[in-house]
Amino acid sequence: MNEFEIIRHYFTADSGRKDVLMGPGDDCALLQVPPQTWLAVSTDTLVAGVHFFADMDPVALGHKALAVNLSDLAAMGADPRWVSLALTLPAVDEGWIKGFCAGFFELAEYYNVALVGGDMTKGPLSITVTVHGTLPEGKGLRRSGARVGDGVYVTGTLGDAALGLQQRLGHIAVPDEHLDFVRTKFEHPHPRILAGQALRDIASSALDISDGLAGDLAHITTASGVRAQLELEQLPLSEAMKASVPRERGWELALTGGEDYELCFTVPETHRGQLETALAHCGVKFTRIGRILAGEPGVELLAEGKPYRLQAQSWDHFRSA
Ligand code: ADP
Ligand code: MG
Repeated sequence: MNEFEIIRHYFTADSGRKDVLMGPGDDCALLQVPPQTWLAVSTDTLVAGVHFFADMDPVALGHKALAVNLSDLAAMGADPRWVSLALTLPAVDEGWIKGFCAGFFELAEYYNVALVGGDMTKGPLSITVTVHGTLPEGKGLRRSGARVGDGVYVTGTLGDAALGLQQRLGHIAVPDEHLDFVRTKFEHPHPRILAGQALRDIASSALDISDGLAGDLAHITTASGVRAQLELEQLPLSEAMKASVPRERGWELALTGGEDYELCFTVPETHRGQLETALAHCGVKFTRIGRILAGEPGVELLAEGKPYRLQAQSWDHFRSA
């Protein structure tokens, strides 16, 4: 198959979305943007050997390439609509492309996102995905909205993807009964789309945790001109984490590990009741882990009420932004 046959055969499935006036095949995609909406647009690139192992299962990779992008839409509270895909491949390996598409389109269909265009080039394996979502005019969960007195919250459990990576590298032994869970967290992240939408009118700020909670929350404090204080005992750690490492190592993975693709968000006290209801509705577990204070931007850590210093080298780099 040549490039055009591959595009036609694998990348032009009709999504059925009525707002796609022209999908792949012309010079541009043509998309119907509803009145009184804002577009939310985000791009992420995954490079073999940097962001994933070059021999990673293509099905998992197809899923992850889209999932990490949808996670950015989730963190903005946006409704996913359209996606474009630029693939750089070392060679045309149809088995690989088929697997990649299986993972990519399964997730795309789940969230009703249409693939509307892209690019194919030859070179070292790399994947660039751009997602487009919409928000009602004036909405959007920015990083800059956190205010003194807000609570700091996260969805799900933290550090499991990092635990999965450490297990894969042979650095941490994970008990057999938890292996599937950590591998899934590492290779098959689930974007928190429903939670993001539910938080649209409740949270004062939000972002997705891609580099580790400490560094990512520091971005909120910088953008908002506030300080955050975390109580480490409150960090949600999975059963797999508790069974694999001592508590302090679990905290460290949660704070600096990265690739969780959970949401970190702040909520004014007055919206606390609304928060319970909204997230219970979409079945998403969430935990209050700290609060927003006045002061120099940065993240303070408390363990048993006393200041706590992380062992990790990366901490100083993350500390103040
Ligand atoms: P051009 O030379 O105008 O850039 P291309 O040959 O790159 O056009 O692409 C032709 C059409 O196929 C375009 O509509 C483009 O969006 C689409 N396309 C190319 N690669 C992909 C892909 N990986 N997934 C979806 N659509 C693609
Ligand atoms: Mg092109």
